[in-house]
Amino acid sequence: MDIIVLIKQVPNTTEVKLDPKTGNLIREGIESIINPDDQHALETAIGLKETLGGKVTAISMGPPQAVDAISEALGMGVDKGILLSDRAFAGADTWATSFTLGKAIEKIGTYDLILCGRQAIDGDTAQIGPQVAEYLGIPQVSYVYEIEKTRKKSVVVKRRLENGFERLECTLPALMTVIGEINRPRYPDVGGLIAACEEKAPITQWNAADIGVQTSEVGLEGSLTHVIKTFSPKFKREGDILKGNTREAVSGLIGKLKENRLI
Ligand SMILES: Cc1cc2nc3c(=O)[nH]c(=O)nc-3n(C[C@H](O)[C@H](O)[C@H](O)COP(=O)(O)OP(=O)(O)OC[C@H]3O[C@@H](n4cnc5c(N)ncnc54)[C@H](O)[C@@H]3O)c2cc1C
Repeated sequence: MDIIVLIKQVPNTTEVKLDPKTGNLIREGIESIINPDDQHALETAIGLKETLGGKVTAISMGPPQAVDAISEALGMGVDKGILLSDRAFAGADTWATSFTLGKAIEKIGTYDLILCGRQAIDGDTAQIGPQVAEYLGIPQVSYVYEIEKTRKKSVVVKRRLENGFERLECTLPALMTVIGEINRPRYPDVGGLIAACEEKAPITQWNAADIGVQTSEVGLEGSLTHVIKTFSPKFKREGDILKGNTREAVSGLIGKLKENRLI
């Protein structure tokens, strides 16, 4: 089975801070990692390859340093990495990001399965997977919890719902977004990591021309979203600390809830 995994390099924090003057994300001093859900997507892909054969390609769109995410993926057992990097890609919203990733996948041509994480911990939209599938015109399954069976032209998967699971069969090629509960990602192999940093490592870099896009179609120019202002929310209300022993604190809490007509 030939599998493509979309991986995003993200800051290792869920507390994204903004520069109050520029409104940009503060990235300095924050370590970068492969987005946690994408580590699960990589593990799923490598596991399938180990059982069924085939190859796994990891693609990441990002600045040059996103190559580190690809090297780590190679260390885990991916066969090939593609870094989509070009100044023209900067400032992309989810529309332009999905378009760019979709174009790169079209250039690859053949694949059985595309795996993504459900959601990135920085952008947090969970839009990329579904948008890439729409762009490519292939079926998609989100929130995949387990790949139960693989057949020649389909897979049977279990996806998580709010209050249970759904089991469905999906024809291939398809795109699936996976959730963290699907598996436990392996650590990259040290030898593999060293090999991934060597010059002959199987990492290709593609720019806008390589994937056949105009600069006006990608990055900030190709984005439909226009950010007017970014700011960190200010918390105006201060919390109340209820004093006294447990009984007094609980009755104080009930009093406050009643006062505010919450109970
Ligand atoms: C106007 C505007 C400008 C922006 N400018 C920038 C910018 O300059 N730099 C910047 O980093 N972000 C920028 N962003 C944020 C950027 O659009 C999103 O981070 C990006 O589109 C991915 O969305 P997400 O983080 O919500 O991913 P989600 O949709 O939550 O991610 C789901 C899955 O999609 C895959 N995926 C997501 N992103 C990538 C990727 N880049 N490569 C490979 N796979 C991926 C992963 O498998 C991931 O788990 C900008 C956003 C807007 C609206």
